[in-house]
Amino acid sequence: MSEEEYIETATGKWEAVIGLEVHAQVISESKLFSSSSTKFGAAPNENVSFVDAALPGVLPVLNSFCVDQAIKTGLGLNGTVNLVSRFDRKNYFYADLPQGYQISQYKYPIISGGYIDIEKADGSVRRVNLERIHIEQDAGKSIHDQSPTKSFIDLNRAGITLMEIVTKPDMRSAEEVTVFLQKLRAILRYLKTCDGNMEEGSMRADVNVSIHCPGEEYGTRAEVKNVNSFKFIAAAIDFEIERQIGILESGGTVDQETRLFDTASGQTRVMRSKEDAQDYRYFPEPDLPPLVLTEERIEGIRKTIPELPDAKTARLQREFDLPHYDAALISAESETADYYERALDSVKSPTKDFAKMLANWMLGELFSCLNKSGKSISESNISAENLAELVNLIKTDVISGKIAKEVLELMWDSGKSPAQIVEEKGLKQITSVDAIEEVAKQVLAENTDKVAEYKSGKDKLFGFFVGQTMKKTEGKANPKILNEILRKLLEN
Ligand code: ADP
Ligand code: MG
Repeated sequence: MSEEEYIETATGKWEAVIGLEVHAQVISESKLFSSSSTKFGAAPNENVSFVDAALPGVLPVLNSFCVDQAIKTGLGLNGTVNLVSRFDRKNYFYADLPQGYQISQYKYPIISGGYIDIEKADGSVRRVNLERIHIEQDAGKSIHDQSPTKSFIDLNRAGITLMEIVTKPDMRSAEEVTVFLQKLRAILRYLKTCDGNMEEGSMRADVNVSIHCPGEEYGTRAEVKNVNSFKFIAAAIDFEIERQIGILESGGTVDQETRLFDTASGQTRVMRSKEDAQDYRYFPEPDLPPLVLTEERIEGIRKTIPELPDAKTARLQREFDLPHYDAALISAESETADYYERALDSVKSPTKDFAKMLANWMLGELFSCLNKSGKSISESNISAENLAELVNLIKTDVISGKIAKEVLELMWDSGKSPAQIVEEKGLKQITSVDAIEEVAKQVLAENTDKVAEYKSGKDKLFGFFVGQTMKKTEGKANPKILNEILRKLLEN
């Protein structure tokens, strides 16, 4: 059963409505309001300045690179950059928040609107609109599992810049949410504004889920906090959909509440209900002036935005006649696209045929090597230039496609160039008509009985003669020439 069918049968007359608040950690050497390093994996409290530790009398200084990163993200996600935005204090007490408040943006975020178009498995496209993107400080980390009697605080993360990307409630299933997050992550990685590394917590999401009957008003949402893997996000959504349908179908009402996803049980449970919802007492941050941007600065950043997945897919289809499926797969991740484009760039004016063949070899043979070894394409044993060279050897009839598969494996194991392997192993295709004819004649002479059978109408034997000749040449005869020669010889 596909995921799509599962959701349809499981939800019956009910439709799920889902909106996300994605926290994406900004790629930057230093924090939002201090010059401390953001490096992941440092010793506890190594990257903590007086500002991050909130010593009295220190003042925040805005990191303009982080602001540029947020602007870039907003432009890349089709949003509007607001010329004036503002920082606010969000007050709450937590041991890993030494300030006693988080500096965030509330009523006046840096980015408004925006959207991502997502393509589902069935090929349909759906637009997911964004509400806003704002920037804020991350909190530190409380560590409870190092001692039986004590908790520890690590403030290395305190003050690192987060972008909170808030969507409209535009998604309808776990599949749509998964595709949305994959695409969002890919765009952020293309933009180099967030590394999207969910294991290290650089991307995490709060998932808002409600249930209604299509055509009726949206239902009350439950919010599942801080889920940090695609798998858990999908599981949390499916659990919530089922839980809420259960409540409504037995005549109850869904409470607006904040829930936690328990990775061990695959269930969500209440963290806090609306009654004791937090009142953050937001007020304008007195230590920072409003953030005022100029059109010039925004336009300058717009110029640095690379070609993004949708545009790249369309261009590859247009320029090289690649099928949509291939073009989309190549463009889906910046590393894959970089590899493909470096391979194309390494040959002089690549033809459409070449581009298509290169796509096949990359998405087929190379991806299968990568899968087997568990490596990403940026760790590939075969360089983009060498893969292009291999495809070129096939296209120029130096080796056959079949031999090329062997060569590719040898390339993977040795890291050598295809030309070197072909040379060393003597794998060059035989294209000399005389040489092939000599071997073909030998095969026919050794199989006079089969030749007689062929001539009396057993056409299928043609394949046998091809196979035998190929065997004698160790697979190196050019198949087209070999076919022509055999036809000619057998006609007489
Ligand atoms: P809060 O901080 O209170 O959670 P936000 O405005 O930051 O509020 O986020 C609200 C999120 O909830 C958005 O992602 C929005 O799309 C989503 N949402 C709003 N209404 C619904 C609903 N009826 N069902 C599901 N999600 C919803
Ligand atoms: Mg929320």
